[in-house]
Amino acid sequence: MDFELEELAGASCVHSGKKIFVATDADNCAKCGRAVLNKHKAEHEEKCTGAGAIKRVAHDYDELPPVEWTQKLIAMVAGGVLIASFGGGLMMASPEQPPGELAKPMPTKKLATGFGLMGLGAILSVVGYSSERRRQSEKAK
Ligand SMILES: [Zn+2]
Repeated sequence: MDFELEELAGASCVHSGKKIFVATDADNCAKCGRAVLNKHKAEHEEKCTGAGAIKRVAHDYDELPPVEWTQKLIAMVAGGVLIASFGGGLMMASPEQPPGELAKPMPTKKLATGFGLMGLGAILSVVGYSSERRRQSEKAK
């Protein structure tokens, strides 16, 4: 759960907007944690997307540690960037053109490979970074 449970008494029902006077008249929505009157709970939860959730605020004691640039992480990100730039270079490079022939348009296959490599490189960097980041935060707990 990454949201706060809203204090019931004194809150306004997330569904009807009516003031909640007694905590026992209401409950927290299972999806967004907002206070909702018992009689509206089922109806609200059915439609709730969790968008109105009160985000849990990071406190000093459980704040994520700064990411540690381990060799593995650097290798993954650098590898991703390298693959992406290779893909980009492939697209930039002019097609091999024997002298005397008319300029050919960029072959589709090469263009697709270039785009593919760029995408792959970007994904590798992002996935590598976020998984390593998650692993480090887990360890810190
Ligand atoms: Zn909700």
